[in-house]
Amino acid sequence: MIVDNYNRVHNYLRISLTDNCNLRCFYCMPEEEYAFTAASQLMQKDEIETLAKIFVSLGVNKIRLTGGEPLVRKDAAEIITTLSRLPVKLTITTNGSRLHEFVDTLEQAGVRSLNISLDTLQAEKFQLITRRNQFEKIYDNIQLLLKKDFHVKVNMVVMKGLNDNEINDFVEWTKDQPVHVRFIEFMPFAGNWWTSNKVFPMQQMLNVIKEKYEVVRLQDEKHDTAKGYMVPGHLGTFAVISTMSAPFCSGCNRMRLTADGKMKNCLFSEKETDLLSALRRGEDVVPLIHQSVKAKAKELGGQFTADFEHLHAEDIHNRSMITIGG
Ligand code: SAM
Ligand code: SF4
Repeated sequence: MIVDNYNRVHNYLRISLTDNCNLRCFYCMPEEEYAFTAASQLMQKDEIETLAKIFVSLGVNKIRLTGGEPLVRKDAAEIITTLSRLPVKLTITTNGSRLHEFVDTLEQAGVRSLNISLDTLQAEKFQLITRRNQFEKIYDNIQLLLKKDFHVKVNMVVMKGLNDNEINDFVEWTKDQPVHVRFIEFMPFAGNWWTSNKVFPMQQMLNVIKEKYEVVRLQDEKHDTAKGYMVPGHLGTFAVISTMSAPFCSGCNRMRLTADGKMKNCLFSEKETDLLSALRRGEDVVPLIHQSVKAKAKELGGQFTADFEHLHAEDIHNRSMITIGG
């Protein structure tokens, strides 16, 4: 078992397959001309498998593939198939643009639930946020996955003045379709234009929704980062991921592996542990994994608190989101 100093058992690993992406969401990838990491510096397929097996031997029972955009990696299908043979719940977070090419692979791998990011239901605004013109493709792919009975969670990063006026459009979407919308509070990462006044906190989201809808609170699972709700009679649900205004660190069971093989014990941790180099030198990485988790801060990487109104993005030392893996 992997346990930290606050008795939190860590059984969930997020593996970033690449820091490459075919979108350019400004809040995730700071620069249009961002230089992606060379393929040779990324974990290779067999290295991902070896590291995943080591984590599984230590008690990991859930793996999420992320990035960057995991499905732009050339051997993504092979990696999905390989990891699906491990005794884990395998899932993926994707921008959805390539899902039509991967439906069969996902079905064969037994992946039944996945997170797809979509911050707006307006094609023009999508272009503004992602600097790419892929709205229709992604929306169609969500429909395709719903038709194939996948459990689809839609991640929407809510940013004040940009898309907070669409919150109820997303709730309305849950009326006739079994989509599970997750409203995410905007988080600060290196160079992502974050300022505290762009955060639209959970309580304000709920106020907006309750002005239009009657809502009921759903029972959360033990390690849920999202607080779940639904409108009675709607086919889908919605939830809020309140990292900034009400962090959920006390129940955290997550560890991260960046695409270049660095372990992060928290999304906001400054320190990283280089598992890939150790693996390539033939060293035992198990003690490194335990050390990393033992060094985990109680809350938010030890870098800030829920008092985010006074936070300045430049005071946080971290990578950009695209190089961490969300
Ligand atoms: N490319 C995939 C995607 O977009 O879903 C996976 C990687 S992306 C980094 C993972 C998730 O992180 C996405 O849902 C994205 O919206 C979210 N994310 C990225 N930057 C964020 C930020 N600054 N605040 C909150 N969520 C963010
Ligand atoms: Fe790419 Fe996902 Fe980041 Fe957008 S949020 S730039 S789709 S990795």
